[in-house]
Amino acid sequence: MERGERGGEGKGERAFTGARVYTQDPTRPWAGGLIVRDGRVSRLLAEGESPPSGVPTLDLSGRLVLPGFVDAHTHLTLYARNLDRVALGGVPTLEEALARVREAAQRTADAVAVPDGGDWILGQGWDPHAWGGLPDGADLERAAPGRRIALESRDCHACWASAAALAAAGIGAGTPDPAGGRIVRDAAGEPTGILLEKATRLLTAVLPRGAEGESARLERALAEALSLGITGVHVLDAAEGMQKLETCDRSRGLPLRVVCYLAEKDLESALADGRRSGEQNGRVRLGGLKLFTDGALGSRTALLSEPYEGTSDFGIAIHDDAELADLARRAAVGGLAVAIHAIGDRANTRALDALETASAATPAARLPLPHRIEHAQLVFPADAERFGRAGIVASVQPCHIPGDWRPADRHWGDRCAFAYPFRTLLAGGATLALGSDVPVEGWNPFRNLYAAVARRDWDGQPSGGWHPAEALTLREAILACTVGSAVASGEADRRGRLTPGMDADFIALSGDLFELSPESWLELGSDLTVVGGQVVHAAESLDPSF
Ligand SMILES: [Zn+2]
Repeated sequence: MERGERGGEGKGERAFTGARVYTQDPTRPWAGGLIVRDGRVSRLLAEGESPPSGVPTLDLSGRLVLPGFVDAHTHLTLYARNLDRVALGGVPTLEEALARVREAAQRTADAVAVPDGGDWILGQGWDPHAWGGLPDGADLERAAPGRRIALESRDCHACWASAAALAAAGIGAGTPDPAGGRIVRDAAGEPTGILLEKATRLLTAVLPRGAEGESARLERALAEALSLGITGVHVLDAAEGMQKLETCDRSRGLPLRVVCYLAEKDLESALADGRRSGEQNGRVRLGGLKLFTDGALGSRTALLSEPYEGTSDFGIAIHDDAELADLARRAAVGGLAVAIHAIGDRANTRALDALETASAATPAARLPLPHRIEHAQLVFPADAERFGRAGIVASVQPCHIPGDWRPADRHWGDRCAFAYPFRTLLAGGATLALGSDVPVEGWNPFRNLYAAVARRDWDGQPSGGWHPAEALTLREAILACTVGSAVASGEADRRGRLTPGMDADFIALSGDLFELSPESWLELGSDLTVVGGQVVHAAESLDPSF
């Protein structure tokens, strides 16, 4: 039985007063409080105005209230899965990474040879740029001899594996590179232990599933999201990820809203089953289908029109033009909106071509959600205008700038004038939807706001901002992670602004964004998170039991 989305949402009237409510309604941008009923905003209160007597009221003591943040690009179920794995994000040296692997090997020494695959050492987050060259399997042998080890890179486009792991996956000198992937080899043709792009799947196919503890990890991840003011996430974790979230919603009720995207491998079954974008099952909504055109900057697999600086390397194309356009068209005609991963300039051109083809083949009213391009990191100025013209949402992740600006300068050179081109995309009429790409980056939305507005890294570099002409204002950045995400999920008529009739999804911040410097935003969190009128997170300083 399909459940309505509104099931279990807060009933009865409740008032939130003493706030600075930033509504994002241009006709009434500010209010002093709001009243919610049946999960929606029923009325805004003027500054100092009291709610009708008898309505339970929480005084927010001057806090800034915003519509809840919706992270438009997450791998929520991957992130939850990673919570108990070797974390290599931000590790500055190869030796330190190996120390962490060694520590995990000791911690799990007893697990060797257990039948459920508990002997594997899994981890993620290493950055191929940080250590002056790619590591290899021999490095892992020094840390944990003989163990089966699989470590995903920060951008999820490369995998670093031990000899025993390669053997478990049957990868040897005679294994050909799969289409769209590469097994890195030494001079003798032996795999070094690095797998790129689709070659990573040779290994991930044999990894243990790690189902034990899964729901507890998901709950931990969700609690963290709520404390950061995230009231919704778009999840690009394929049919399996969607199933996990639906299971969680059915058994315990998801505390926030979820929009899921299927993967290319799910297309045939989705079409056969008549799945449609906009399908709603409890709090889980089907967004559409995610496709890939290229890899990523970090592993130099993003597809470029001119080679990477100082090389003859253009990156990797996952599909040729005709294939990509055909996949997008078939999905759209079948009722699925399409999200295409595109990082390099050539990849963005191809993705736009494919989505324009898909749109031309689909009656406009057919899809309740727009098509979108994920990342849009390097975009020709002429292509930037095509987003707005075709109604294609630019799903961007400002929080990649801090880690990417140096490698981007190195690999893309002068082309960086068109990198992370938020201002140019907006000027061309595009809707920007902000996301984090967690676990590639952390999902703290305040870090995203900082990166979008300051375009500096976490150490404040470069001090004037990286290509500051492309920076967003704070208001534009807030709009992009609220209204922008709602446009992307086809729900802008009910979410993103705090006006009567809209869903009561809002947050009260621990500090006022409009009064603090961007650097101070990084310390902020949500003191009160409300989804569908229900308090789902409250700081100790607030008593939500009113
Ligand atoms: Zn992603």
